[in-house]
Amino acid sequence: MWSQDILNELDAFEQKAQKRELFTVRDADKRWLTMKGRRLLNLASNNYLGLSGHERLKAAAIRAITEYGVGATASRLIVGNHPLYEKAENALKIWKRAEASLILHSGYAANIGILSAVIGRNGVVFSDKFNHASIVDGSILSRAEHKRYRHNDMTHLEALLKKTPKDKRKLIVTDTIFSMDGDKALLLDLVTLKERYNAILMVDEAHGSGVYGPNGEGYSYEVNLQGKIDILMGTFSKAMGCYGAYVTGEPYIIDYLKNKMRSFIFSTGLPPMILASIQEAIYFVQEEPDRRERLQTLSDDFREALSLYGFDTCNSTSQIIPLRIGSNEKTIEFSERLQEAGIAAIAVRPPTVPNGEARIRFALTSEHDAEELAWAVDKIASVGKELGVIL
Ligand SMILES: *Cc1c(COP(=O)(O)O)cnc(C)c1O
Repeated sequence: MWSQDILNELDAFEQKAQKRELFTVRDADKRWLTMKGRRLLNLASNNYLGLSGHERLKAAAIRAITEYGVGATASRLIVGNHPLYEKAENALKIWKRAEASLILHSGYAANIGILSAVIGRNGVVFSDKFNHASIVDGSILSRAEHKRYRHNDMTHLEALLKKTPKDKRKLIVTDTIFSMDGDKALLLDLVTLKERYNAILMVDEAHGSGVYGPNGEGYSYEVNLQGKIDILMGTFSKAMGCYGAYVTGEPYIIDYLKNKMRSFIFSTGLPPMILASIQEAIYFVQEEPDRRERLQTLSDDFREALSLYGFDTCNSTSQIIPLRIGSNEKTIEFSERLQEAGIAAIAVRPPTVPNGEARIRFALTSEHDAEELAWAVDKIASVGKELGVIL
């Protein structure tokens, strides 16, 4: 029976401590959130600059609702191409110093749409093993051959490129800041390889936008390689505090996407209020570099304090700080003990990370306070000792 099969599968999730549940969370845009009746220090959101609850973004959204209503009414190629798209895309283009840009739906929709538009049945996608699930899904949807190289292993990537016939369309894709390890892509090496093997290079700045670069443009701009990247996508849903995604590139690439990208063509445009808040967020990150600097300092201090206690923070160098534990059960217990101690942090389990690499993922924001974080480190260390994660 199919229903019994489904129940068995759910059971198996439970057995492997992989079953997921939804909890209502209040105040996730603030430093302290409320979950299961507890007030917890919020080390779980991707609101890296504290923008999602910011007055400027809220005011822009409210004005747009009052003037334009709440829905876009149709896809952009029909009648959903609201004037606020033009404004936000212009702001985006100037911020990124890009020749052409396109605002898209969620980061997930952007990745599945871009990949399946740009690469097809005869192409090959070369994808870092730690790339986000939306990149994996986009590669599968494209029907291209999908080759995953070991995380940041350029020798492995080059060996795979070498074996691929010259006449195939090739695309290398990577997160710039990896979402579960908090480390960074080797962009300079990727540019060298893409040039050597005549491949398209696509990067995903979901965790880099707003956080890195002289004007918060993204990590590619921090290392000054933006001009070498063929398809640069990112999201407005994390540090930018809003919702939606974007892509920049040469005009013919953007034109191609408008014509081929199915998640863009066949989906209703973003609500005007989101476009208004995106535009405001783009201005905001350029005007307030302080938040980026604060975020880096807080992250460095927090990470260093944890490693001094003997925790394994993987290779993190960013605001995403994992604490590698290993077993699913122990990771869940760790996360529950943290909640009892007043801290919200996510337990990340397979299949989001490889088997045996379950971890707690801390995400910091510029709005945290150094004293609160020091308090959190003490609590984390006590839990770590109790559970035998550290000595
Ligand atoms: C979060 C994330 C996405 C998805 O973005 P959404 O806007 O949440 O759909 C895509 N890529 C990476 C690397 C991400 O971390």
